[in-house]
Amino acid sequence: MAYDYDLLVIGAGSGGVRAARIAAGYGKKVAICESDKVGGTCVIRGCVPKKLFVYASQYSKMFKAAKTFGWDIQSQFNWSTLLENKNEEINRLNGIYLKLLSNSGVELINGFGSFVDAHTVDIAGQSYTAKHILIATGGTPTVPDMPGKEHVITSNEALDLPALPESITINGGGYIAVEFACIFNALGVKVNLVYRGKQILRGFDKEVAAFAQQSFIDAGINVLTETEITAVEKMSTGFICHTSHDSKHQTIASDLVFFATGRAANTAQLNLSQVGIDTQNNDQITVDKTQATSLPHVFAVGDVCNRDNLTPVAIREGHYLVDRLYKNGNQFPEYDFIPTTVFSQPEIGSCGLTEAQARKSHPNISTHTSTFRAMKYAMSEVKEKTFMKIIVNEDTDQVLGMHVVGADGGEMIQGFAVALKQGLTKTQLNSTIGIHPTSAEEFVTL
Ligand code: NDP
Repeated sequence: MAYDYDLLVIGAGSGGVRAARIAAGYGKKVAICESDKVGGTCVIRGCVPKKLFVYASQYSKMFKAAKTFGWDIQSQFNWSTLLENKNEEINRLNGIYLKLLSNSGVELINGFGSFVDAHTVDIAGQSYTAKHILIATGGTPTVPDMPGKEHVITSNEALDLPALPESITINGGGYIAVEFACIFNALGVKVNLVYRGKQILRGFDKEVAAFAQQSFIDAGINVLTETEITAVEKMSTGFICHTSHDSKHQTIASDLVFFATGRAANTAQLNLSQVGIDTQNNDQITVDKTQATSLPHVFAVGDVCNRDNLTPVAIREGHYLVDRLYKNGNQFPEYDFIPTTVFSQPEIGSCGLTEAQARKSHPNISTHTSTFRAMKYAMSEVKEKTFMKIIVNEDTDQVLGMHVVGADGGEMIQGFAVALKQGLTKTQLNSTIGIHPTSAEEFVTL
């Protein structure tokens, strides 16, 4: 049977765009559909604008430290300037993505894709057929059901606020909640970070999460743990959050309420059950090792599979998939030792196992930690400290996990991740000569 395309990609985010343009580069007839700007969560309403906001907010600490280095700086922050420049940069990147697609010969179709049958997708009222179909529709923020949920914003809106609020209540204790709490706090907003559990950043090493939580409190964030927001009430100015807490924190007043309570896979409009594509937990697409869904010619990559929801993972999954489909490739993404960073202030860099995970799978482990004040802030009123931790399998000497809370933690861990993935031992780590004076050198002396 003749199809309109060899490959039709639904969703032009990081994973979809990479797969589409590599497949087109291999001479395949490829189309990609997108209902929004090309670039997806990462470029348009995620990693990139968020990191620009992180950079913007870091200046407040640098200005404080600058005084002790002899600089007398009169600083004034302007939110509109940041928004304007951020939007300009996003439009520039969107343009690059559009060019990448057109230069590689990928046809861009505007609209959201929805399955008609196993090989046919409806996009804006028109049907298109393809031999292979790739679902790369990503995810979207979710807000739990509660009275007043219509009053809350999510990360989508937080990146385009018309004005900076004086105060904000952020619900959640994961990546997004923590990153935005630090951004707003550093920009001078009074921040309440509300988390339902005992300690934020569940899933991270417990000591790392505890150190980070204390650092955020020390930096001025009002962290309320074991507190659930049960309703949000709109007042004449601002909002009141009603909580499950029976002490003084029963209600929290602020100008804005931001929920960062997780994300769901974007599958609602795809009509998956109609064609027999299996999902789990209501939304996420089930795939096997080859990225194939329950239909062998339909694939899925990235956040829509809800596994390791990170841009470079989606890109790798999409790239290797088309290599295997069209270029006799035989590589599969490896999910061990994926380095990750929470772009908080201080930043958290992490690769490999947490202590709890290591203890579960290895009988004999040791941990090595260090806490110190980075030289950059030693003379200043900035009290921020750095924490480092490695976890070692004592039976084999292999370093199982490396974690840091401190300035540029992500940059450090990216480098060490290469060695960790190759089976770095503690002896090898300690035989490496440090670069002095840096913070990272502390890792090789642990
Ligand atoms: P996370 O899953 O990281 O965090 C969600 C938070 O919301 C958790 O603290 C969770 O609590 C809490 N929560 C969930 N449901 C409720 C509820 N009903 N009431 C109160 N609290 C609730 O999700 P994010 O949205 O922060 O981020 C999504 C994913 O995106 C991340 O996991 C990550 O993979 C990716 N991401 C990566 C970034 C990076 O690489 N720097 C940055 C941003 C996102 P609990 O712990 O109790 O479950």
